[in-house]
Amino acid sequence: MIDRYSRQTIFPGIGKEGQRKLGNSCVVIIGCGALGTIIATSLVRAGVGRVRIIDRDFIEYHNLQRQVLFDEDDIRNGLPKAIAAERHLRKVNSSVEVEGIVADVNYTNIERLIRDADLVLDGLDNFETRFLINDACLKHKIPWVYGGAIASSGMTMNIIPGNTPCFRCLWASPPSGGMLLTCDTAGVISPAPFIIGSLQTVEAMKILVGSEDINRELIMIDVWEGTFHRLKISPRQDCPACQSRYEFLEGQFGLKTTSLCGQNAVQVLNPEVGSLSLKKLAARLKPVGQVTYNEFMLRFTIDAQEMVVFPDGRAIVKDTADESLARGLYAKYIGT
Ligand SMILES: [Zn+2]
Repeated sequence: MIDRYSRQTIFPGIGKEGQRKLGNSCVVIIGCGALGTIIATSLVRAGVGRVRIIDRDFIEYHNLQRQVLFDEDDIRNGLPKAIAAERHLRKVNSSVEVEGIVADVNYTNIERLIRDADLVLDGLDNFETRFLINDACLKHKIPWVYGGAIASSGMTMNIIPGNTPCFRCLWASPPSGGMLLTCDTAGVISPAPFIIGSLQTVEAMKILVGSEDINRELIMIDVWEGTFHRLKISPRQDCPACQSRYEFLEGQFGLKTTSLCGQNAVQVLNPEVGSLSLKKLAARLKPVGQVTYNEFMLRFTIDAQEMVVFPDGRAIVKDTADESLARGLYAKYIGT
C-alpha cells in the first residue's frame, strides 16, 4: 500500500500532502463513456478516496472501440456501464470506495447525487445535462470540469464557482438541437476522448490538491489535425447562473418526456428547438439507420427502435414506456 503511489508522490506537484488530499476527496463522474472511463480509471488508480460513477446506459459492442474500462464479458452479462465500471475498478484499487449508480441525471436528482462531492467531472455526450451540472455546481459551490469530444476534436474547461467564468458564460443556451453533432452521427476516434479525459484528470488532481496551477482557459484540440488551442473566456455580465438564477435546475429547460398511455410510446419535447430542418436531419441520420421523411415528419429506425420526429423538434419513441431510454435516444440521434 505504501508503495502504490510512490511514483506520484515523488512528483512535486502532488507530494505526500497532495496524496493525502486525494485520499480524502470525493469525486462524482457523470457519464461513463469514453471520457468517463478514462477519468474513472485514472482517478481510482491515483487513489482518490471516493469515486461515484453515474450513467444511464448499457454497454454495446460499438462502445468497446474507445470505452477502455469495458470488455466483451460485460456485454454478455448485460451490465450497465456504471456497474461494470464499479466492478472493474474495485479490482484495480480495493482501497478506493467506488460506487456505480445507474441513473438518468436530471433536475430532480442531481443535487442529491453531487452534494457531498469535492469535484464533479463531466463525461457526458449531451449539452443539456451540462447546463444542469453547471447550475447545481454553482449553487453548491462545487468545482466541475467540463469535457466533450466528438470525431477527432474535443474541448475542456474548469469551472470554479466564484473564481472562473461558468459554462453558461461560455454558451448562453444549448446549441439548437437537431443540428448538433453527436458521436452516433459524426463518429469519434478514441484519441480525442483519451486526450480530453486525460486533461480533465490532471485538472481534477490539481483542483483536489489545491494547486495554484489550474487551467483558467478553454482548451480545444484536434488530434487528426494535431492542433491545440487555448482561449480566454470572459465572464458574461448577463449570465443567469452567475447571478444565482438556476433555470436548468428549476426544470425550466431541457427535454420533457411523457409516456403516451395505451400506445407503448414516449413523447419527447425539446423546448429549446424552434424549428428543425427534417431534410438536414435526414442527411445526418442516413449513414446510421433507416430514414424516410416528408415535410411533416421523419421516421428513423435503428436496431429495434423507431422514432418519429416532427419539424418543431418533438419526437415520439415507439415500443417503449421507458422515459429515460427515450430521452437517451433523443440525445444520441437528434442532439440536445
Ligand atoms: Zn456564468
